[in-house]
Amino acid sequence: MTSATERRDLLKDVYEEARGCVRCPLHQTRTQVVFGSGNANAGLMFIGEAPGANEDKQGLPFVGQAGKLLDKLLAEIGLERQDVFIANVLKCRPPGNRDPQPNEIESCRSYLERQVELIEPDLICTLGNFSTKLLRADPTGISRLHGQVEERALGPRAVRLYPLYHPAAALYTPATLEALRADFHRIPDLLALGPLAQPATPEPVGEAVPEPDTPPDLAPEPPPASQLGLF
Ligand code: URA
Repeated sequence: MTSATERRDLLKDVYEEARGCVRCPLHQTRTQVVFGSGNANAGLMFIGEAPGANEDKQGLPFVGQAGKLLDKLLAEIGLERQDVFIANVLKCRPPGNRDPQPNEIESCRSYLERQVELIEPDLICTLGNFSTKLLRADPTGISRLHGQVEERALGPRAVRLYPLYHPAAALYTPATLEALRADFHRIPDLLALGPLAQPATPEPVGEAVPEPDTPPDLAPEPPPASQLGLF
């Protein structure tokens, strides 16, 4: 069992690694890496697509119009950002807000996998097509899947996956907003179900593996704590 402090520290280590990332060409055009923000101990995680211009400037996810709508919907169900963790499929902005490319998604996916593994959420809301397709490993689109909760194994964790329309898609389409709002309002009931039963972790066999004495590959400067927006 990981304590809240350990979880936060481990997440900061992943952030340290991500903020110096050069795995795909997006590092050449980003202002900064948008790792994600919120509560490292959250039971509820939201996963969007990729940072836009505002996020790239501020280093935080969902700070533009779509983010304001996300905040409003959270408030309607009695939650704030500090209660949840918000991340994206891509940690760097695609130029001109174009769609994420398969090589970028593949390069970035281990950061998201480690975020899920460390935060250990009970419920993951995927926002829009890109995160839904990635986490379900299936090309079925969001208009068929939104509002349908399913149980999934993500790495070592069993979670409830709950695909939702992306807030940006709801900004100018009233019917999409209505559907998003109706789906959103079911979140408290889904959270009240608590965690799924987790697969048994095998008992360690044999001797403890010694810690490697090479330090992790850290970026040169200490992280500005506010960029992570951890609570
Ligand atoms: N859209 C996203 O998918 N993510 C953000 O962080 C902002 C807008």
